[in-house]
Amino acid sequence: MEITKLIREKAKEYRDYTAECLSEMVKIPSVSCDEKQVVLKIKELLENAGVKDVRIDGLGNLIARVGKGPKILAIDAHIDTVDTGDESQWATSPFSGLIKDGYVHGRGTVDQEGGAASMITAARILTEMEYGGKYSVYFTFTVMEEDCDGMCWEYLINEEKLVPDFVVITEPTNLGLYRGHRGRMEVELYFKGLSAHGSAPERGKNVIYSGARVALGIEELNENLKTDEFLGKGTITPTLFRTVSPSLCAIPDQARMHIDRRLTWGETGESAVGELKEICGSDVTIEVPEYDRPSYTGTVYKIEKYFPTWKIEGDHPLVQAGLETHRQLFGESPRVDKWTFSTNGVSICGRHGIPCIGFGPGNEVYAHAPNEKVPVEHLEKATAFYALLPWILGH
Ligand SMILES: [Zn+2]
Repeated sequence: MEITKLIREKAKEYRDYTAECLSEMVKIPSVSCDEKQVVLKIKELLENAGVKDVRIDGLGNLIARVGKGPKILAIDAHIDTVDTGDESQWATSPFSGLIKDGYVHGRGTVDQEGGAASMITAARILTEMEYGGKYSVYFTFTVMEEDCDGMCWEYLINEEKLVPDFVVITEPTNLGLYRGHRGRMEVELYFKGLSAHGSAPERGKNVIYSGARVALGIEELNENLKTDEFLGKGTITPTLFRTVSPSLCAIPDQARMHIDRRLTWGETGESAVGELKEICGSDVTIEVPEYDRPSYTGTVYKIEKYFPTWKIEGDHPLVQAGLETHRQLFGESPRVDKWTFSTNGVSICGRHGIPCIGFGPGNEVYAHAPNEKVPVEHLEKATAFYALLPWILGH
């Protein structure tokens, strides 16, 4: 097929350009809530590539569009990164953007500015080909994912009214085709006891004993949680227990326990809170905390720290189009799998039911780790995939 061949050739021709785009992004630190400079850099790169419709929304997401078909395909990359960690463990500076031995090196190359760089080149290719097919293709470069996955897409869907038919998430998949992951939620338990002199504990109610009983209940609950053949098992564990007491010679009367809950298929925020209610007594308050950090534009967009599970089936038309795209470009089927970590899919598919697939450059073992690096070959292949998928979908 002509289009496939042309896209494959262009992705190859622009291989170094894609690596350079990534290198330029990596040189700009962009931790969550502080992405302004990298967003402006991506805007400049897209405009220099000839992409006409590029804008920044109220939260600070960058949205570029190619084509104006009636259906909407969004291709998404979050462009915030986590911090560097101990820099002495990095062989070269985390912000070097060094291109060497077939890799681009530095923080964010895998998670996940590599996907963003491939998207820039794909937008360039579709623009040069004057794509005019069935889809409006939106390239979204989104913020704050590492801090609150999916929040940026709550904003795009609810405030910007960008409601795609399909979405590709470009987080690292090592060029596999992904179709889901477990959800998660954070829960705070607040314990209320009664203080008394430490010399007469029988007069008080000690929140350490209440907390210990609840913790053991949680340990047992964890053993009995659901499993899903594709997504694996749900889990629950306490990750913090802090008490308050008038003195070290007094019975502590307040405590907070933080809970990390991973949700598999069929588990929801409601069911997870229900299980905790059965373990906790009436003196325990259960709360799902809210995220309320301002974005770099100063916008606060509150959201519960509940990130729903999502998956789509292997025979879904979007998965099938992804498989076909891969086969046409590379002559073979990709590995179909799931992420171990969480992505913006928690909002897009988890909350809104919009089908998502994942396809991205880089191996997730480098995500959040020192000496992060992505193969330039992956960038080229991801570019070709993003540029061809709209044609395959619109066939
Ligand atoms: Zn990521």
